[in-house]
Amino acid sequence: MKLILLGAPGAGKGTVAKLLTQLDGSVQISTGDILRGAVQAGSDLGKQAKAYMDRGDLVPDELIMGIMEKRLEPDCQKGFLLDGFPRTIPQAEDLKKLLVKLGIKLDMAVNIDVPRNVILDRLTTRRTCSNTKCQAIYNVKSMPPKKEGICDKCGSPVVQREDETEAAISHRLDTYNKKTAPLIGFYDKEGMLLTVSATSSEAVIDAIKKKLGT
Ligand code: ADP
Repeated sequence: MKLILLGAPGAGKGTVAKLLTQLDGSVQISTGDILRGAVQAGSDLGKQAKAYMDRGDLVPDELIMGIMEKRLEPDCQKGFLLDGFPRTIPQAEDLKKLLVKLGIKLDMAVNIDVPRNVILDRLTTRRTCSNTKCQAIYNVKSMPPKKEGICDKCGSPVVQREDETEAAISHRLDTYNKKTAPLIGFYDKEGMLLTVSATSSEAVIDAIKKKLGT
């Protein structure tokens, strides 16, 4: 599978991507996970990205394209699920050029469409594994870890992300509407868009499988 996952923060891109990797060995490439890993490691990339991320602003396109050029080449043969990228029209245009250069054809861009009230509720109750190699996602209401505050998969503390305060969440949603939502029209024009209006990840997976004919 070679897919782009589009959708607001909290729409479930990460959860859907993780489920899809189990189907055929495609790899999840999450720019958010890569950036949080870089911030925790204190690398140059992390130092440049941190302030933007904490405010709920997008990291500059050049930084993101640098990451993606390095990641897509080795991973493209296995298939990939782009989670959180592209997020602006310039990123989508650069991705298009990069895919031509690498000789890769995307299957489609999946727009996961979830009502705003569901998104707000999810983001304030979401918790994430603090181990950057794991980053498993939980929800205090609907999917708590078996042992409170401890990741089921790796035993590390499960925490609330720094950009998941109410102010940062509201700013991230505004940024999404301004900068990322236009990508829906972009991929529609390219004839590549599948919109799925569903709040359950399983329903999203079923719609993707049906469209791919698998
Ligand atoms: P969410 O989709 O829940 O907002 P992510 O984990 O995808 O969260 O991203 C967290 C933060 O990382 C974003 O708010 C932004 O600052 C930065 N980021 C991630 N991907 C990109 C991207 N493609 N372009 C610019 N900034 C990005």
